[in-house]
Amino acid sequence: QEDQFKKVLSHAKEYGYVFQSSEIYDGLSAVYDYAQNGVELKKNIRDYWWKAMVQMNENIVGLDASILMHPTVWKASGHVDAFNDPLIDNKDSKKRYRADVLIEDYCAKIEGKINKEVAKAAKRFGDAFNKEEFLATNGRVVGYQEKITTILARMGKSLENEDLADVKLLIEELEIADPVTGSKNWTDVKQFNLMFGTQLGASAEHSTKVYLRPETAQGIFVNFLNVQKTGRMKIPFGIAQTGKAFRNEIVARQFIFRMREFEQMEMQFFIKPGTQKVWYENWKENRMKWHLSLGMGADNYRFHDHDKLAHYADAAADIEFQFPFGFKELEGIHSRTDFDLKQHEEYSGKKLQYFDHEENKNYVPYVVETSIGLDRMFLAVFSNSLQEEALENGTSRTVLKLPAVLAPFKAAVLPLVKKDGLPEVAREILNDLKWDFNVFYDEKDAVGKRYRRQDANGTPFCITVDHQTLEDKTVTIRHRDTMEQSRVAIADLNAIIKAEVDA
Ligand code: ATP
Repeated sequence: QEDQFKKVLSHAKEYGYVFQSSEIYDGLSAVYDYAQNGVELKKNIRDYWWKAMVQMNENIVGLDASILMHPTVWKASGHVDAFNDPLIDNKDSKKRYRADVLIEDYCAKIEGKINKEVAKAAKRFGDAFNKEEFLATNGRVVGYQEKITTILARMGKSLENEDLADVKLLIEELEIADPVTGSKNWTDVKQFNLMFGTQLGASAEHSTKVYLRPETAQGIFVNFLNVQKTGRMKIPFGIAQTGKAFRNEIVARQFIFRMREFEQMEMQFFIKPGTQKVWYENWKENRMKWHLSLGMGADNYRFHDHDKLAHYADAAADIEFQFPFGFKELEGIHSRTDFDLKQHEEYSGKKLQYFDHEENKNYVPYVVETSIGLDRMFLAVFSNSLQEEALENGTSRTVLKLPAVLAPFKAAVLPLVKKDGLPEVAREILNDLKWDFNVFYDEKDAVGKRYRRQDANGTPFCITVDHQTLEDKTVTIRHRDTMEQSRVAIADLNAIIKAEVDA
């Protein structure tokens, strides 16, 4: 499993999907950039969601609210008071640290020891050195790795259970010292807020503290009545939004699974009070269907119903996905009651009520929310699709079996050779197809090598132009997953690709 995760990381980089942010400056922790292929995959996931939520539902409309909002929004929502991370102070140095970071740094030191052992052995064994094997078999190194895993698991568990005393105990047991002064005299662990703050306005006296939104949902709530009135929306109806959210996360170690800047795809569904149970079940089922429609294997999904509920919810479940590091939350479905709208009524002094013509009365609607992380969905799709396949002839190939609808490129057009007018015909085909699909052109290297490159990049079809093409206007079309090839008319290409991409 860990191996698969490493493969995912290196493949994402090697094939231009995800880069570390500011890599030439050694990166910024838990912040990532989407590269030439990643940006296409991400856009396709977003579009696939948008289509299912907005285009296919008459009673759901879109919204694009700003990242910066009035600071009182976050008081009303509860984020100022209850959205926190653990902090610890050193009593002697009076310096303040994040408890989890101290522990992570301690583990990084152990990792440093592992690296030293690796470097030493590499020198000793020269060309015969196999790093993977060494890491797996060297007793001391394995011991170090186990120690790191144990420490991080315990920290993760205590933080999840909000057991701050145990986080402190861990720091004491590990005898972690103040990195500057070396003192081991610590205070208790306290919580600190996860929101990124910044200043609005130029001069210090006249500036206001604002936050980068930690979720997109509040942008929907504060626009609820504007959208309802101008869109003449009747309950039940939904407002959908995709956009960036920011959290100064506690444990940010799992690539794009947990980032400090990430993108959410959220839909708030406004309903009549008392109908929330039905709608909650309805959206759970609906969202699971959406996931299954991508064909990534029903066994890879499961529901996790929450016993412990957030302050705003009367029911909540996660759709978990089997990531390379196990089943983890991919999407949340929350029955949020009228908590948010009532809070905004109270803090803004404005009524946020709906007049129900059938009932002939005003009420504050209840809300059922579906909230999925776009980056997490990206990781789910990417890691699930990356496969190493043994072939009949004894060799193997790396293939990225992305659902065709999500693949960055739907087809690659390849002239068999770089002469005899084949590139020109290939370009003509590309110029025709590109009105409907993202199509790649490649004429470098032998065609077998080009097929492998497209396999690894997730392109569902390769279209090869050869000498016969000049005679009868047919080409070879090769399917990524089956590797089967067939001869088809150029005129049929569009329909063939469309059938697969729309499926
Ligand atoms: P977690 O328990 O993993 O921290 P959460 O319960 O705080 O997530 P929500 O606030 O419900 O998450 O956010 C909805 C969705 O947003 C999550 O299901 C997840 O897909 C995504 N998400 C939340 N935090 C992050 C993050 N730091 N990086 C990437 N995606 C995130």
